[in-house]
Amino acid sequence: MAQQNFAAVFPEGLTPLAQADPEVFGIIKDEEERQWKGIELIASENFTSQPVIEALGSCFTNKYSEGQPGARYYGGNVNTDRIELLCKARALEAFHLSPESWGVNVQPYSGSPANFAVYTALLQPHDRIMGLDLPSGGHLTHGYYTANGKKISATSIYFESLPYKLNPETGYIDYDKLEEKALDFRPKMLICGGSAYPREWDYKRLYGIAKKVGALLMCDMAHYSGLVAAQELDQPFEYCDVVTTTTHKSLRGPRAGMIFFRVGPKGERAVKGEAADAAYDFEDRINFSVFPSLQGGPHNHQIAALAVALKYAASPQFKTYAKQIRANSSALGANLTKRGYKLVTGGTDNHLVLWDLRPEGVNGNKMEKACDLVHITLNKNAVVGDVSALAPGGVRIGAPAMTSRGLKEAEFETIADLLHEARPLLLCVLGVVIDVQNKTGKLYKDWLKVIEADPRLPEIKKKVEAFASSFPMPGFAVGQSADGQVHIAPAVQPKAAYSNGSAVTA
Ligand code: PLP
Repeated sequence: MAQQNFAAVFPEGLTPLAQADPEVFGIIKDEEERQWKGIELIASENFTSQPVIEALGSCFTNKYSEGQPGARYYGGNVNTDRIELLCKARALEAFHLSPESWGVNVQPYSGSPANFAVYTALLQPHDRIMGLDLPSGGHLTHGYYTANGKKISATSIYFESLPYKLNPETGYIDYDKLEEKALDFRPKMLICGGSAYPREWDYKRLYGIAKKVGALLMCDMAHYSGLVAAQELDQPFEYCDVVTTTTHKSLRGPRAGMIFFRVGPKGERAVKGEAADAAYDFEDRINFSVFPSLQGGPHNHQIAALAVALKYAASPQFKTYAKQIRANSSALGANLTKRGYKLVTGGTDNHLVLWDLRPEGVNGNKMEKACDLVHITLNKNAVVGDVSALAPGGVRIGAPAMTSRGLKEAEFETIADLLHEARPLLLCVLGVVIDVQNKTGKLYKDWLKVIEADPRLPEIKKKVEAFASSFPMPGFAVGQSADGQVHIAPAVQPKAAYSNGSAVTA
């Protein structure tokens, strides 16, 4: 009877996705195939692990737990408290932080909410902030508005923002200009970290400037937090007051955000006028800002999955992975420069390179589109000196995702020699981009019509897919389905096999 009642109200309650919703299942299988067979070079993306995906799909998605562990607004949180406390402890451990000096909030839904929560906690509306300009490689949430004053990010709507920029000659951050601007503007918060900056950050210099103008120093290490955890890059924690991150980029976890903040006595970081025994009050302010000011119930399935990712971020293998990311991006960059191509700053210290395509006479839009057509995924990006945000002059290429699939320098250098191409794959694509533009002229619309029909691209695509699918795929199993065609076999076999976009009973 109970079974019948259950079936009457919840027929799909215990049915595998493949049977319950073949349409959604089919799209997921297609996406698995796209991820498996492509060369993924988006600097902010990665492939997370099977246990992380398992935790994300766990029953923690059912639970409300507003508040902090031990002080919730809902009952039934015994296990939620355990998972959140474990996640917090692992976060501090993964980033080599002592709980005496640092605390962490693991509830932000993602990176943008984490940043806004910091501003809400530590600033007043209309306080001044300074971050790296978006066209210079900063992020929207660091106070972005356009050159003609249109406020794009809420961080420029609710706070007064003045960006700092790159040196137009070198492509490096111009710290002298930054200091000059900061002394005039007197921001309450100085923000470092970015989305498309290929070089190391000078945290010591930034702290000196922040101190001089009485600003707090925040680092958004979203892109490179995996490399910070592995101690492959300088540590923002040495100098910053607050450090935020996403958890799904180089850190390789689920999509989420974290905020690290200083706790305990300020010691020699106390500012003029503060008592010698002054202590940080960030913890309560940041926790209150995340909930109840900005968010409701934490996404406990994300927190569980993040705990899994952080366990592995502290492992020796993660260190090997992070080292390899740097080796791979620098091998890719060195190979491009060796062949006479121009990279912003001439190279990279981290997980990404910025390729300036203006000397080749094409823009980033065209390169991104042509790469898409051959199943290489990267993104167009502004390069220093760009005037148009709509047709930026370069592309951003990141190493984390393909490093997670086991690629090393040799494959990155040529992406890839294995294909016996006379030139690396990316250069084959660029050759077609330029060749077609020579025939059609520069107008994107005319160029697109011709390149989409170019017979060379499907040939390159075949090689890309054969190459990419020869590497292991984390997160889900790949293989052959019952019909003999290469499809994706899910890690946990459902009761139906996938064929041609719909589920068939096996
Ligand atoms: N901060 C930086 C530096 C980023 O690059 C990004 C995303 O790319 C974010 C924050 C925002 O993260 P999310 O997309 O998770 O909101």
